[in-house]
Amino acid sequence: MAKVAQEKPEQTVLYGTPVVDGIAYAPVVWTRRPPIPDLTSPDLPEERRGEEAKKFTQAADEVTAKLQERADSTTGHAAALLSVTASIASDPAWRKEVTRMIRRGTPAVQATMHATDRFVTKFEKAGGILAERTTDLRDVRDRVIAKLLGREEPGIPTPSERVVLFADELTPADTADLDPTLFVAIVTQLGGPTSHTSIIARQLGLPCIVAARDISNIHEGTYVLVDGQRGTIRTDATPEEAQRRVDADRERVELIQKWAGPAQLADGTPVELLTNVRDGDTARDGRSVGAQGVGLLRTELCFLGASAEPTVEQQRALYQPAFDAFPHSKIVFRTLDAGSDKPVPYATLTDEANPALGVRGLRTSGHNPGLLLHQLDAIAQCAHAANHEDTWVMAPMISTIPEAEWFTKLVHERGLKAGIMVEVPSVAVLIDQFMEIVDFVSVGTNDLTQYVMAADRLSADLAEYSDPWQPAALALISNVARAGIRSGTPVGVCGEAAADPLLSCVLVGMGVTSLSVAPPALKAVGAQLSQFTLEQCQEAARAVRAARDQGDARHRARRIFEI
Ligand code: PEP
Ligand code: MG
Repeated sequence: MAKVAQEKPEQTVLYGTPVVDGIAYAPVVWTRRPPIPDLTSPDLPEERRGEEAKKFTQAADEVTAKLQERADSTTGHAAALLSVTASIASDPAWRKEVTRMIRRGTPAVQATMHATDRFVTKFEKAGGILAERTTDLRDVRDRVIAKLLGREEPGIPTPSERVVLFADELTPADTADLDPTLFVAIVTQLGGPTSHTSIIARQLGLPCIVAARDISNIHEGTYVLVDGQRGTIRTDATPEEAQRRVDADRERVELIQKWAGPAQLADGTPVELLTNVRDGDTARDGRSVGAQGVGLLRTELCFLGASAEPTVEQQRALYQPAFDAFPHSKIVFRTLDAGSDKPVPYATLTDEANPALGVRGLRTSGHNPGLLLHQLDAIAQCAHAANHEDTWVMAPMISTIPEAEWFTKLVHERGLKAGIMVEVPSVAVLIDQFMEIVDFVSVGTNDLTQYVMAADRLSADLAEYSDPWQPAALALISNVARAGIRSGTPVGVCGEAAADPLLSCVLVGMGVTSLSVAPPALKAVGAQLSQFTLEQCQEAARAVRAARDQGDARHRARRIFEI
């Protein structure tokens, strides 16, 4: 029988990668990047080139001044983001390249396009923090071109009512001074969980979904129900249903605000909830929101700007505040994780073709073992001087058994507990053998997911692959947790997976013994844990093992938890 051609029904539920939990219901307002101008153009006559170069400099000056003015009128992270964008607009190397092209006859608009493309390619090749600057670069390009063409600078409109902001992708300058009373949620087609959009949304506490590929057909003014936990955008919700969901979400927020450790499940089972920190300030932040100790002190973040290795004395001064914040509680130090997305000038090789698979983490010790020995000395001296009895030290990017043996011996010689991060899949594969050597392990789900899915964790185009609910990553974590139960080895999770409230319950159900999360995420995790029993968590852990993709894994867990 011939098939009758059917018209495709309009999709009423669209999906993306959830980044910030929360429910919002409001009409859509779109912000779109300006169209790319013609890339080719006739050469400018010799006599007009000087004038054209001046026009460019004036446009770039105006863009810089406006961004700096906005930076000066705000504070904190927003001010820092705007200052970074302003510094790109005034960058002498970029301006010189544009001007050089104009002097050779390319009109200012096309010169700005071509020069920026060159810088974007360079930054992408360099990777790490520079690669993250490409969004700012393109933003500056669009602003300068708008000035040159006499148009409005691109940016977010000021709405007259509460709206959900839709965009291809938001730039730092777009989002820096976003008013959270007017914008109730953010949904972007591109971007990933670590993009600027996500960082800003987390700070503002706005429900946020990124990598929502199919939203382009949703028109401005359409009412949408955004669910920042499920990652859904619905156009078919009635106002009554939407109001019920928004009200229920308010209760969730109140529960989080009221939560005040120590963490335990609904049946009273205790959960060790620790915090991820970089220094004394963040350690105090973690303590103030109810952390029972430090589960990850990222030591490399103390040294990102250092051009020479700090002395043992200088390192002691950097580590001491963490002991002051948690004098009687567990502190897990991670030795230098230099390289890849966290370049430390004195420890990182500069000319690697593929830094994420290169000399990073413990591997830097191959070139310079002194870096590790000095660090361990500084940590041990602090711990002994403070009579601190719960100092644990772990190594990042361990991938072989001899590495784990070498590291453990060095840490034990200094009287501290030795562990490794489970980030490279080889460790998860041979976990039983590793657990015969070390005192504990901690799963770095950000890198473990990156390596098991072969997907750059910073790539906005690969957000779906980097999702911590990816079943392959969950299966590895579950195997590690079971090995921990068999051998009596503590298994922590300190990657972003632990900061996802629902996933934190699944991890506990797998048998993970501690969770470590950044201070801003801690109360939400504690509050969510308090809602479910160990039995429910274990059932959810079993359910996600059969999931076929990240969405299915979320769905299965929610069904067990009945939310
Ligand atoms: C991780 O990889 O999950 C982790 C905690 O380490 P980082 O994010 O610092 O690489
Ligand atoms: Mg890591």
